[in-house]
Parts: sequence; structure tokens; C-alpha cells
Amino acid sequence: MSSTLITNIGSLVTNDPSHPGLLGLVEQAAVVVDGSVVTWTGRAADAPAADQVHDAEGRTLLPGFVDSHAHLVFAGDRTAEFNARMSGQSYSAGGIRTTVAATRAASDAELDANLARFVREALRQGTTTIECKSGYGLTVADEARALRIAAAHTPETTYLGAHIVAPEFADDPAGYVDLVTGEMLDACAPHARWVDVFCENGAFDGDQARAVLKAGQERGLIPRVHANQLSHGPGVQLAVELGAASADHCTHLTDADVAALAGSETVATLLPGAEFSTRARYPDARRLLDAGATVALSTDCNPGSSFTSSMAFCIAVAVREMGMTPDEAVHAATAGGARALRRTDVGRIAPGARADLLLLDAPSPVHLAYRPGVPLTAAVWRAGVREV
Ligand SMILES: [Zn+2]
Repeated sequence: MSSTLITNIGSLVTNDPSHPGLLGLVEQAAVVVDGSVVTWTGRAADAPAADQVHDAEGRTLLPGFVDSHAHLVFAGDRTAEFNARMSGQSYSAGGIRTTVAATRAASDAELDANLARFVREALRQGTTTIECKSGYGLTVADEARALRIAAAHTPETTYLGAHIVAPEFADDPAGYVDLVTGEMLDACAPHARWVDVFCENGAFDGDQARAVLKAGQERGLIPRVHANQLSHGPGVQLAVELGAASADHCTHLTDADVAALAGSETVATLLPGAEFSTRARYPDARRLLDAGATVALSTDCNPGSSFTSSMAFCIAVAVREMGMTPDEAVHAATAGGARALRRTDVGRIAPGARADLLLLDAPSPVHLAYRPGVPLTAAVWRAGVREV
């Protein structure tokens, strides 16, 4: 096992409370990596020797992004649907159903190659941890294979059989919930860490969502919820009640919803790519932060409503449109995502943490919002291995 000293770091974002500010910033810093973990952080002048040295030339080093919400096992794309929506034309394609049909028709190898491409695309932009949901199969076999394929690329796999009611069950939604909580769960649970449900008008109501999440919990899966995206609803309260790791979207919140999140361990995960890509109202991050809620930022990368894998883009939009300071947005995209996945080994740079590091070609992490759309990745390490 050889050690690497990364030195001459202009700004080091540690997210370590033993250093000052929300980001635990250290200037003129250095980091030592031994094998897959960080073993030392501090001022460059005090750094110990290591086998190899990487000169950061005054750049910014931050924890690799933790993207805690993505839908990456799919086939096909929905360019025409997006183009029509952005051109002000009505478009009557099937939305998620279009992707379900393409995904069912794809081979395992095609789905695996597509997923690998997006994981790599995200890695090139600094994302070193990524969650991946099923939800475009909606049959026992197709959901199980989506999770099996996802599990080969990330430990953060989420069973989302309850994405929409499968087309075959359009006239029998209760029958579909029985499938999702029964035979489909049995087939999927061995490949999943999390259980999720799209709790929304037109998808699953509060009672159905509760049944799905509780069934998952009984199989050892931890809940996370697509909640309050398109309208007020019971999703956030349900997430808090069941001790979900995260309530995702949180666009339409009552004061009681905000208070419930603030008084709980459930993270509010905001997904500005979805509002961007559908010209919808953005969630109010300021309101959540001022109330004391923990906020994460994530891409929601999917071919329909948010086809971006860029956490930097989400940071820029969150600062411009959602009332977050640049520091809060960077924190939410790293430490916030880690909280949403209940991980303590990622989202921070401190002794004992996994060496997931993003070197930015910028003197400050503020540049992630200040220079939107600019590729700032200078280098990426994942578990101590230089990947980019
Ligand atoms: Zn989603």
C-alpha cells in the first residue's frame, strides 16, 4: 500500500467540524491518502512525508460529490418529449411508460452498458458515490434484473417497483401494490439497500405508499420517498413517520411539512434538474435551511424529467434559484448526500474517510456556482484510485 501526499491545495473543503465554517475550509492545505482512505489533513507546511507527491498548484480539493438520487437503469431517450415541452407544443407520449417499454425490450448487456456510461459520465464530473433506482421494469423479472445490474456498479441500490402502476395493472392498482409488496419485493430485496415509492397524485397515494415502504422495511430495506414533487401530499409526513433516510423533491411543502423535516433525521433532498427540465417552480431551500432541516442536492438523473448527471449544475441552480449560499450548496452536494445515504465514510475529507476526492481547476469552491456550465474537473480519486 503506497501513500500519496496531495499538497499545495489552495482551498480544502473538509466538511470536518474541527475546521472553521460550514465547509471546514483549510487554506494552503495538504491531504495524505494511504490506500483507499484519507490518513491526514491540515496545513501544507505541517504535512508528513509520503511515497508520492501530487502538486495541486493552488487548486480547490473537495469531497467527491454524493449523488443520492438517480434513475440510471433504462434504455432509450425522450428527446422528442423534451423538445416538444420546451417548444411549447403539447406532446402526448407516455412519459415514464415510454422508458418502461424501451427498458423491457433491452438486453441485460445493453442496460449494463448504458448504466456504466452514466456512472462514468458522472465520475468525470466529480461524482464518486451514486445511488441508482429500479422503476422502469415494473414486472418481477424486470425490476429484479434492474437491481442486479445496478448492484454491480454501486452499493446504493433502491427498489422502486412503485414508480408508477405498471401498464398491465391500469385497471387494478391495488393488485399492483400487492405485487410490489409481495412477489416483486421477494425478488428484488436481495439486490437492494433501499425501498422507494413515488407518492403523488397519479402514482401512489399515502396508504399505498405506506404499504410499500412498510413491506420493504420488513425485508430489511430502508425507506426513502419521492415526496411532494408536483403537489402537496402526505409523502413528507410519511417519510418522517417511518424514519426514512430522505424525502426527495420537497417542492410543495406546508409549514407542518417543513417543521416535520426539521425535527427529524430525514434529509430533504432537492432535485433542481427536475424543475429546470420541466419549467416548474423550484423548491425553497432557504425555508428548509432556516427551519433547521438537513438539505441534500442530487441530480435525479433520468431520461424524462432531468437528464443531467452534473452535480455542479445542480449547485449553480440551487444558488441562483433556490436561495442557497454557495457554501450551503456545496455542502448539500457532498455531506448532505452522504447524510441522505446514511454514509459516514464519504462526503467529507478527514482521517478515516474514503479517499473520494475532486480537484477543481479553480481557487475556491464558490466557482462551482460562479462559473456555471464550465468543466472545472482537474482530477478525481475514488477510494484512493486516480480515475480522472
Ligand atoms: Zn426520482
